[in-house]
Amino acid sequence: MTVFGRMHAISGDITAFEGDAIVNAANETLLGGGGVDGAIHQAAGPGLLQECRALGGCPTGEARITGGHKLRARYVIHTVGPIWSGGRDDDPALAACYRNALRLAAEHGCRTIAFPAISTGVYRFPFDRASRIAVAATAMELERLPSIEAVTFVLFGTEPLARFQAILTAASA
Ligand code: ADP
Repeated sequence: MTVFGRMHAISGDITAFEGDAIVNAANETLLGGGGVDGAIHQAAGPGLLQECRALGGCPTGEARITGGHKLRARYVIHTVGPIWSGGRDDDPALAACYRNALRLAAEHGCRTIAFPAISTGVYRFPFDRASRIAVAATAMELERLPSIEAVTFVLFGTEPLARFQAILTAASA
């Protein structure tokens, strides 16, 4: 199967994902925040924050793994997207989030993994630009990681889903 056959987009709440791992768009403290980070901590319960405290933070572009606690996913992979600063310098850091999260997932035997639209909320990365980076970085990494069977991009609403899906379709054509 081509890498694009292993990439899917849906709209919904990532905390409901049933699979091996969900990715959290965290901040460098890993101590919780708003947006998808808040939703994940809320659904996972206090054990997740306790485990995160022991990690001592995470630099932008890198990733860390914890258990899923009360979530349906076995693991949470925390990655820290760049805060949009208005230029090309932000792109490699966002690509690194997808690359490092996928590598960590593969190292832990994950076959199914879900991503939110990292950096597109409070961190203000332009959505279409972030989506193109997400698709390209994931496709490139999946070539190297045959054990990952499916990557699900969970968009928060039907309008973001339509925009993301158009970018995914264009990339796979
Ligand atoms: P960041 O700080 O990386 O920008 P945010 O959490 O503010 O992170 O936003 C990242 C994306 O996650 C946004 O597109 C937002 O709409 C989306 N989002 C928020 N809550 C959820 C959720 N429960 N499931 C999936 N996506 C979500």
